[in-house]
Amino acid sequence: MDIEIATIGGYEEVGRQMTAVRAGDDIVIFDMGLNLSKVLIHDNIQTEGMHSLDLIDMGAIPDDRVMSDLEGDVQAIVPTHGHLDHIGAISKLGHRYDAPVVATPFTCELVEEEVDDEQKFGFDNEIIRMDAGETMSIGDSGQVELEFVNVTHSIIQAINPVLHTPEGAVVYGLDKRMDHTPVIGDPIDMDRFREIGREGNGVLCYIEDCTNANKKGRTPSENVAREHLRDTLYSMEDYDGGIVATTFASHIARVTSLVEFAREIGREPILLGRSMEKYSGTAKRMGVDFPSDVDMVGYRRSIDQTLERIMNDGKENFLPVVTGHQGEPRALLTRMARGETPYQLDNGDKVLFSARVIPEPTNEGQRYQSEKLLGMQGARVYSDIHVSGHLCQEGHYEMLDALQPQHIIPAHQDLKGFSGYVDLASNQGYTLGRDIHVTTNGNIIQLV
Ligand SMILES: [Zn+2]
Repeated sequence: MDIEIATIGGYEEVGRQMTAVRAGDDIVIFDMGLNLSKVLIHDNIQTEGMHSLDLIDMGAIPDDRVMSDLEGDVQAIVPTHGHLDHIGAISKLGHRYDAPVVATPFTCELVEEEVDDEQKFGFDNEIIRMDAGETMSIGDSGQVELEFVNVTHSIIQAINPVLHTPEGAVVYGLDKRMDHTPVIGDPIDMDRFREIGREGNGVLCYIEDCTNANKKGRTPSENVAREHLRDTLYSMEDYDGGIVATTFASHIARVTSLVEFAREIGREPILLGRSMEKYSGTAKRMGVDFPSDVDMVGYRRSIDQTLERIMNDGKENFLPVVTGHQGEPRALLTRMARGETPYQLDNGDKVLFSARVIPEPTNEGQRYQSEKLLGMQGARVYSDIHVSGHLCQEGHYEMLDALQPQHIIPAHQDLKGFSGYVDLASNQGYTLGRDIHVTTNGNIIQLV
């Protein structure tokens, strides 16, 4: 059976991920994402009303025109998790394919919210919920099967999809870290990866998340970030002024930890900001392991009213968890830093960034400005209370050992980012150009 891999997006950047695998007559698409930095660099672009070709030209969504060179029928669009760089282009490109979206329930909810907001294109693809550990058959050959293996990442219900073919398995490894003690959900299913590496024809190809491939060592568990957060907040237990925290709104486990520890130090947590309300509201509605009694407010006017109430009742009784961890100019924390909200920061008030700066000049500049403005109001900044959601080098070695793939395609980075991965795979006996395929966007690699 012919096996081809089309590397469509996310092979020259972190963002707009999209890969297609053809097995015989059947094609499965993994991820269809947005490169948010290409959107945010322009001051006020609303992507909802934009045409896909304009977004392709901006580099914001994958250029999927290479799909016409793949001979077969698309049978499924499979986003691995709910981050926008993996689902954010489904609303723009999904309708071009006569295929269902297949994903875990939380990811499906987020996809549904994305396509509901879309103004330019109609979307009536079926959305199929499938849990980690489950499989579905692909196409009519009876020889191709899709399996979801549970992985751990900075958003809940992340999976790595595996396409089983007669030539071996194609394992799509985006995005994960190896967490044996995650705060929500099950540990990464390494047993299953080891089995897949050894059963049948083994692993034909592994497509790997190289985000942190240049970083030595091992990515710590979410539990480490949780303890760091607990330690930091407990040190503030006797402080009788304002404490404000910010983190990735989609990071449900982290938000949950913030909510719990706020209460343990005698403060009422309130989630503020549009994306805080979106992701936490979805988790709460779905009955995910998420505190059901926490207030969340999304609209600007209601947010300002809530902040006014916090000031009147005494800000020492609350812990607002807000948007703006990257210093985004329109996010709530940045507005607070500029003194544009009713919340007054006083000398000595604490601001916790439970996030790292995404290493990209726009973010770095905006975050710098936000921290400076907070400091000018007397706030004390606690940064980097965080662990990454992506494997570092030791995790990559472990994955290679578990899967023993015949071919490797590094992804989710640019050429510079791939270099660390090529080095470590070379240490394990792989050779660049023979079985490590470093590539760019818009190529097709014929494996069989
Ligand atoms: Zn991700």
